[in-house]
Formats: sequence, structure tokens, C-alpha cells
Amino acid sequence: MTVTIYTHPRFHQHDTGPGHPESPARLTAVMEALAAPRFALLPRREAVHALRSQIARVHTRALIDTVLDPYAPEWRPLDPDTWMSPHSAEAALLAAGAVVGAVDAALDDPRERAFCAVRPPGHHATPDAAMGFCLFNNVAVGAAHALARGLERVAIVDFDVHHGNGTQDIFWSDLRVMYASSHQDALYPGTGLRDETGAGNIANAPLVAGSGSAAFRAAWEIRLLPALDAFEPPHVLVSAGFDAHRLDPLADLNLDAEDYAWLTARLVALAERHAEGRIVSSLEGGYSLQALRESSAAHVAALAGI
Ligand SMILES: [Zn+2]
Repeated sequence: MTVTIYTHPRFHQHDTGPGHPESPARLTAVMEALAAPRFALLPRREAVHALRSQIARVHTRALIDTVLDPYAPEWRPLDPDTWMSPHSAEAALLAAGAVVGAVDAALDDPRERAFCAVRPPGHHATPDAAMGFCLFNNVAVGAAHALARGLERVAIVDFDVHHGNGTQDIFWSDLRVMYASSHQDALYPGTGLRDETGAGNIANAPLVAGSGSAAFRAAWEIRLLPALDAFEPPHVLVSAGFDAHRLDPLADLNLDAEDYAWLTARLVALAERHAEGRIVSSLEGGYSLQALRESSAAHVAALAGI
């Protein structure tokens, strides 16, 4: 069993402007943590571009044209939080492509787990809108790719502190995909209420601001993991945001790196039960560099069974 780290130098060149929390330093922090000796044996692979046709499975032509527009100004906002700069379009193609490549590898050999260290993140991108620092919905593109390659079902697990409204929108009535999310209640983007259940394939566990490890673990143990088990997913995809960590400046949940290790070990067990071990994770948010270092290391160590 191994965990391949997918990344690309271009992810450091997606410039969101001065003072923006979704900065290249985030990825540097993650890669520094993964440079520790205990991860030395994990293979590294450079991401390749997602194809337009792969992105078009989950996004409208209008959004893809907007992100990839070669004639647009080099610096432009797609929403007030979501900026593009000269290398952003390529980074967006590579971020989605990292997940597609990791899904392909896992489908070819279920022992090929992966962590995609990418920017921009993806889970807020809806079918027709880039928002919340996200251009294309990387994990959704990966899930659609797994379905296109013949899998009957895919589970997407999202523990970013923000609700993945984009992923929920994309798969709202698609019974082939289960989306399970824990997130801080009433935080950006305001979606993710318990009664948002799609066609019965969406499970949201909002946590009140200020809650911590116990509430987080209970939400997964009592509600979300049993729902995922009942779905029996032959592939598990993870939207791995680390902004529910107590050090994060944008949110107010109080998790520690051990909580990410705990949930990741349970997700690995879920994948072992239903998916021959197939699990692919991709970086979403996380805005404290220290929290990113600790949490990404804990997550990848648990994925690798180290
Ligand atoms: Zn987030």
C-alpha cells in the first residue's frame, strides 16, 4: 500500500494577490511537512492537465470558457474572493488533472492511494460559477471521471470547515454519488444545513462555532460514517481542508491534527470495506501555515498507515 503525492510547480504560481489567505505559502507549508523523513518513501508524481472534456462532465461550457479565456485580462476577479493571474488557468487545469490522474491510478490498482497537494482548491466551484477561491471543482471532476470509467458509485467525503456547496450542487440529484460533509454552521457559503439531502445522497453535519474534537468525532461516528457505510462506495474521494484546526484564522472549530488522523484512519477502513482500499484525497482549504503542516502530515501518515 502506498500513497502517491501529486503536485506541480505551477500551483505555486497561482497568484491570488497580496494578503490573500489562499496563498502559495500554503502549498509550501504542506510540501515542507511532506518532506519529513517518514514520508521519504512515498512516490511523487507531477500532475498533468485535465482535459476539457473531463471538466465538462461537471461544469458548464460558459464557466470553462471564462476560466480558460486566453483574451481575458491577466489579472481579474471571478468573484470578490476569487482572483485569476497569469498562471491561474493552467494551475486550475493541473489541479483537476491531479485528481483525475490519481483516480486513474487507483482504478488500475486499488493499492494506489493518493494525496493531491494542489491549488486552487475546488469544493465551492458550482456547475456554472467559480467562487470561494475555487475555479474548477477538482474532486467533482475526479468523481465524474471514476463514474465515466465504469464505477457505479463514488463517495465524496468533505471535512473542510466550509461546506462544499459546489460539490453538493453538482451531484444534488445524482444517486451515483454520495456527498458527506462536516463543516461549521452558518460559515461561508451558508449552505450545508441538515435538511439539504438532495435525492437522499447528501449528508450534512453542521457543527456550531466553538465546538471541537468531541462534536466533530461524534458527527462522523454517529451520522456520516454509518451513512457512507450504507452507500457501500467502490471508491472514496476526500475533500481535505484543514481549516477546522484550532489555529485557523478563518473559522472557529477547534480540531487538532490528531482529529484529522482519526477521521482519515476511519475513511481508510471504509475504503477497505467497500472499495478494495481505493481512496484519493485532495487539498481544499486551510489558512494557518502551522495547522497545514501538522494536519497534512497527520492526514498523509494515516492514509499511508504510517
Ligand atoms: Zn475551507
